[in-house]
Order: sequence, then C-alpha cells, then structure tokens
Amino acid sequence: MSELAIGILGGAGRMGRALIRAATEAKGAHVAGAVDAPGNPERGKDLGLLAGIDALGIGLENDVAALFAKSDVVIDFTVPRASVEHARLAAETGTAYVVGTTGLESGQQTIIADAGQRTVVVQAANFSLGVNLAIALTERVAAALDDSFDIEIVEMHHRHKVDAPSGTALALGRAAAAGRGVNLDDVADRGRDGMTGARRRGDIGFAVLRGGNVAGDHTVTFAADDERIEITHKAGDRIIFARGAVHAALWTAGRKAGHYSMRDVLEL
Ligand code: NAD
Repeated sequence: MSELAIGILGGAGRMGRALIRAATEAKGAHVAGAVDAPGNPERGKDLGLLAGIDALGIGLENDVAALFAKSDVVIDFTVPRASVEHARLAAETGTAYVVGTTGLESGQQTIIADAGQRTVVVQAANFSLGVNLAIALTERVAAALDDSFDIEIVEMHHRHKVDAPSGTALALGRAAAAGRGVNLDDVADRGRDGMTGARRRGDIGFAVLRGGNVAGDHTVTFAADDERIEITHKAGDRIIFARGAVHAALWTAGRKAGHYSMRDVLEL
C-alpha cells in the first residue's frame, strides 16, 4: 500500500512544527507539504529544520489549494477563521481533514461539522490518546459508582494559560456527569472560597493550579469514605497532541464521509 500524503496547515506554529515531526516519524505516512499564513517570515524554510529534525527538502509554502491537491489528508492547527476556509476547501475537494483548532464560535463549528457531509472530518479539542482514554474511563467509573463517591477534578497548566478550568477538565467533567446521567451545568462547582458550607452531594468540583511550563496535568478523584479512586493524565510535551492527530490522519484512509471524534478513532 502506498504511503499516506499528509499536508500540514499552520506549519510554522507551535503545533505545526510538532506535526511535521510526528508525521515524519509515523509509519505509513509522509509529509507532502506545509502551509502557513501569507507573509509568514518562515516561508521557504525547510520543514525538517523548522521542526528541529533533519532537512526534508521541502520548503514552507503559502498556497493552500496546491497543498490540498497533493495531500490525501490535511491536518489543521491554526486559527478559527482560517480553519473555516480549510474545512470548506476539504469539503469541495473531498480531502480528508483533521482539525484541532480551538476557540471556534458556534457558526464556525457548524461549518466544520457540515464538511463531514462531503468528506472525512476528525475534530477534537484534545488529540492526546491518553486524555481521550482518561475521558472514557472517567465516564465508565462514574457510571459504576453512586454519589456516595464525591467527584473532584484538579488541573494544572503553565502560567500563560488564560482560561480556567481547561477545556480538557470540562470534558472530563462532562464525561463524569454523563456517566452519572446528569447535566454538568446542574452539578458543577467551579470555585470555593471562604464560608462555602458543606459539599453538596452529587456535585462535581473543579480546582485549578497555574505555574511553570506545565503542558497539562489532570486528575479526576472519586472520593468515598475510606477509599479513593484517581484517574490521572500528565502531558509532558505537545508532541502527544501531534502524534494523536497523525494517528487520526492515518485512520481516515478509506473511511466514509462523516464528522468524527477521537473517541471514534480510538473506538472508546
Ligand atoms: P500557534 O499560534 O503557534 O500556530 C498557529 C499557526 O497558524 C501560526 O503559525 C499562524 O501563522 C498559522 N496560521 C494563521 N492563519 C493561517 C492561515 N490562513 N493559513 C495557514 N496558517 C495560518 O498556535 P498553536 O499553539 O500551534 O495552536 C494552534 C491551535 O491548535 C490553537 O487553536 C490551539 O488551541 C490548538 N491546539 C489544539 C490541541 C488539540 O489537541 N486539539 C492541542 C494544542 C493546541
């Protein structure tokens, strides 16, 4: 079988560089090319050198249509307004599309989901295989336990992160709530300070730490009298998101059109 040609959108970005490395290291795939925004100062630079690996003999480009033409699948970690255009192009050309861009407004999200009517789209707010497994496990554990187990979620991220709790912590909370058959919005306790009163039975609590260059730590604790279960994931480097996205890109080969998640890819 011939190798899958992967095109990378946002190739000069933090995730783009990690994706060049992950796609180069993956078996059964190669980097067909990478594009960044017009005017990006890295234009023409060798992709391997951009990614901190050996030269690949391919320069960073800015012609998105040409990238789609030579790719079996494109991976997009850019910005919402660019991802909307990329999703439209994927639908028009039938190119498989893996997207990790976050912060989409609901109209933008609809355009990306709609592209799944015409081509294979895999979308995730977190492409780490470990986090997706932790989310699935959290739902199963919550379903197996009653509310004599208090659920608390703690996350830690680097000092530059601007939102809290993290999207991943909220996804873990949604999974725990789904396992219990409740809606997270009805039971979430997102901050305690001062005379809070006793914990409400059935609440799902969140706590947030910020500091250093932590890529992302998450722990879900199920605490009953005299015993505790903890599910923990620790991200050491953003390469794990890139490896997950490349795994998803390989999974798209031969797949029917649809809007898929990492849970579909991992069969969780
Ligand atoms: P970044 O700012 O380092 O990189 C984004 C790149 O996209 C930049 O190089 C920018 O020039 C480029 N870009 C902008 N417009 C473009 C266009 N029209 N065409 C091509 N390239 C364009 O950001 P980052 O840290 O790499 O993150 C990118 C996105 O991925 C963010 O939304 C982030 O939240 C998300 N992200 C998702 C996951 C996940 O697992 N889903 C993990 C990490 C980051």
